[in-house]
Amino acid sequence: MTEKCLFCRIARGEVPSRKAYEDDEILAFHDINPAAPVHLLVVPKLHVDSLLTTGPEHAALLGKLMILAPRLAKEQGCDNGFRVVINNGPDGGQEVFHLHIHILGGPRPWKRL
Ligand code: AMP
Ligand code: ZN
Repeated sequence: MTEKCLFCRIARGEVPSRKAYEDDEILAFHDINPAAPVHLLVVPKLHVDSLLTTGPEHAALLGKLMILAPRLAKEQGCDNGFRVVINNGPDGGQEVFHLHIHILGGPRPWKRL
């Protein structure tokens, strides 16, 4: 599961990414196909499929991810607001099945999402 997972591989440094933030639990990097002038993906290093497979044991980690979002958005120059998106499961539009938060910002118009 985690061996082939793209975002686990990025977290391990096996696949290159343009990093914006890293600590022992979380990695943030620029989306390879940005939908807005600023488009970061914030991922836990721990493999979690999506919000559908989270439970109370993930509360602290989810809190950390959420609190990090505005800090990273501001660091990337989003001084007029930003959007947070989490796609969950096929009907939620999820393509990479490792939980991630999209941070989108920058001057409009944006491409999609
Ligand atoms: P989602 O549809 O929510 O699963 O989003 C997956 C996102 O990952 C998409 O916005 C892709 O552009 C992005 N993505 C896919 N591969 C990479 C990669 N190697 N590096 C950075 N972003 C990626
Ligand atoms: Zn993973």
